[in-house]
Amino acid sequence: MSDNCIFCKIIAGDIPARYVYEDELVLVLEDINPQAPHHYLIVPRKHIRTTLDLTTADNELIGHVFQVAGKVAHDVGFADDGFRVINNCNEAGGQTVWHIHFHLLGGRDMTWPPG
Ligand code: 5GP
Ligand code: ZN
Repeated sequence: MSDNCIFCKIIAGDIPARYVYEDELVLVLEDINPQAPHHYLIVPRKHIRTTLDLTTADNELIGHVFQVAGKVAHDVGFADDGFRVINNCNEAGGQTVWHIHFHLLGGRDMTWPPG
């Protein structure tokens, strides 16, 4: 838990969010400003500021994030069509919330290169 972290406040239940999945390691919530018909945020319960703050102790957690991404995509129904998992790191990477999270986007054709 980090003071003034919006995702820590959501995890603590102090700010409401719409969940599609949760377990002991992560929450999956609907993004408040969706960029695709399906746009979820996979948020580790552990407060980790950015990708650069990960350590080898987090290897299992990050593997779990991708397992959950596939499970949610499958359960919601867009896995076979295809989807994208994105982590934005630091300002030029587009990060705006300083608690590590992974965007899970589906329900439309994605473009490449990304913006
Ligand atoms: P970033 O830009 O850091 O990669 O992604 C942050 C994401 O969090 C954005 O897509 C933004 O819409 C989402 N977001 C910011 N505040 C909230 C909130 O209070 N609730 C939810 N559900 N999403 C949020
Ligand atoms: Zn946090």
